[in-house]
Amino acid sequence: METPPAVLPFPTSLCHRCAAPPRYVQSKTSTFILCPLLPQKYPPQPVHACALFRPKPLASGGSELS
Ligand code: SF4
Repeated sequence: METPPAVLPFPTSLCHRCAAPPRYVQSKTSTFILCPLLPQKYPPQPVHACALFRPKPLASGGSELS
């Protein structure tokens, strides 16, 4: 299981709440969101609507992004 970075890129992106799950690819200066479902891998961010979005199950006791 991959741990999301401490500071999420594009905090409003739907990808952070997606069960796909997205992967976070970090370079020296940026963090990219890699989608395992889309052919183009890196959708234009922030994603606000996506036909393949499935909500990630809520973790009990975890904090939730708002
Ligand atoms: S399926 Fe859509 S919402 Fe989910 S990670 Fe991929 S691009 Fe983001």
